[in-house]
Amino acid sequence: MVLNIFFKQPTIAVDTHLFRVSNRTGLAPAPTPLAVEQKLLKIVPERFMLHAHHWLILHGRYICKARTPECWRCPIREWCLYEPKTPFPNKPAKKALPLA
Ligand code: SF4
Repeated sequence: MVLNIFFKQPTIAVDTHLFRVSNRTGLAPAPTPLAVEQKLLKIVPERFMLHAHHWLILHGRYICKARTPECWRCPIREWCLYEPKTPFPNKPAKKALPLA
């Protein structure tokens, strides 16, 4: 992140969010963070390299969450290989009103 933002270096450090998102989506599946990083560095287009790390972190933090990915509102849902996609959450059942 520091290299990206402050020094404008096109690097992609793979943290827990990038590792999960890269494997779930099929973007860069690999068994270790280093292997994911090497795949991402090969496939991310040069013009996106500076910001890809940040975008993937934010996607993992707010949409493709570890426990329950929010697939129903995910903008890359149609390209993602993860199955089954998480459906729209059901509304909590209404409690029956007590009889008078
Ligand atoms: S569709 Fe679901 S699993 Fe795939 S990237 Fe989006 S939130 Fe993650």
